[in-house]
This record gives sequence, C-alpha cells and structure tokens, in this order.
Amino acid sequence: MEESIKGHIKTFTEELGENINLVAVSKTKPNEDLMEAYKAGQRIFGENKVQEMTDKWDALPKDIKWHMVGHVQTNKVKYMAPYVDLIHAVQNMKLLKEINKRAVENDRVIDCLLQVKIAEEDSKYGMSPEDLKLFLEDDKLTELKNVRLKGLMAMATFTDDEKQIHREFEILETLYKETSKSQKDFSILSMGMSGDYKIAMQHNTNMVRIGSSIFGAR
Ligand SMILES: *Cc1c(COP(=O)(O)O)cnc(C)c1O
Repeated sequence: MEESIKGHIKTFTEELGENINLVAVSKTKPNEDLMEAYKAGQRIFGENKVQEMTDKWDALPKDIKWHMVGHVQTNKVKYMAPYVDLIHAVQNMKLLKEINKRAVENDRVIDCLLQVKIAEEDSKYGMSPEDLKLFLEDDKLTELKNVRLKGLMAMATFTDDEKQIHREFEILETLYKETSKSQKDFSILSMGMSGDYKIAMQHNTNMVRIGSSIFGAR
C-alpha cells in the first residue's frame, strides 16, 4: 500500500531532525491534501503561484506559514504581502524594492531569501555568485527597512549525476558561509528537493523544499 501524506510527513520530520526545516511544497494539490499534512503537524507550506497560495491561505488554518518558493512577478507581490512568511526566490533589486514597498503598506517586515544560480544548466533563475556579492554590498539595501534578508536559496540541476549535484550544492554552502559573516540576519540555507535533499543534507542545508515525495507526483 502507498504510504499516506501523514506517514510521509512523520518520516521526513524524523529524518530531517530538529535543525532542518521542512517546507511541504503543495503547489497544484487540493486543500484536503494540505489538511492531511497539517494534521500530522506540518505548518510550513510552499507554493509557486501567488493566486493559488492566496486562495489556500484564505481557506486554511491561520497558523500555517506560507512560503513562496517560485519565481515572483513584481505585479503579484501586493496580493501576498499581507501574510507571506518567507519569499525564497528574490533575484534582483527591482523585486526586493517592490516587496519592501508592499511590506510598508502592510506595516510589516517581510523575510526574503536571495536565489543563487548554481545549476550548470541555464534554465534556472537566480543571481550568479559574483552578482550576489555585489548585491549584498549595494547601499540601496540599507534603505529597504521592511525586508529582511534571511539567507540563500538555490536549485541544483535536475540530473542523475550525483557528483554534479554535490558540486553545485557545495558552491552554495561555501557562498552561504562567506556571506553570513557580513549578513547579521542570515540563518537560512534553502536547498534540497525530493530528488536531491539527501545530498543537500551533506552540505549543511537547513531548509528543504519537498513536494512530490510527500504529496505524490504532480
Ligand atoms: C516544485 C518545487 C519544489 C518541490 O519539488 P519536488 O521535486 O516535488 O520535491 C521545490 N522547490 C521549488 C522552487 C519548486 O518549484
């Protein structure tokens, strides 16, 4: 018999331990599936479309923390600004400024991660490691008082070549260590998905984003 969503949450929670946060990536899945995970104790859910996340936020218990894990269009930020807990994929100043503006309107501080491009394939979003370092030195950052940069996020290449995935996660692990020295709010390294989280664990991830291994194929 297939293991249940509840069973998967319990298994992941045990395997990951106290120091690695589990984001249950529930995109495309119905509210009933999210509620099954919720009943097993899961409180962090990840979505990649603002409209879908907002519909789910409206319908589901208010102690859920909603993480936006996907690419965000600037004109959609306002819809999630009242409630989003963490935005994983910030990759330029234009988007960060818009998040700050909407955070001000909602009288809150919004936590964000910067997405870094580590994958050797070109389809993935994110800043290059060089651009990340320049970005963190940009004076404009200090004016954005309603966003808090909490760390880094990346996706590895989708491949069976484990050596390549190790190489890519190692780039992010090193960058996180380096940049954390000057970034007082850094505490989150978001890397690892269903197919590669075990490798990410070997590179000190502290937040994994798991979808299909919890909820089944999309
Ligand atoms: C969909 C998605 C995930 C989860 O992927 P699975 O392979 O289903 O675990 C993680 N991170 C991001 C950014 C995603 O878009």
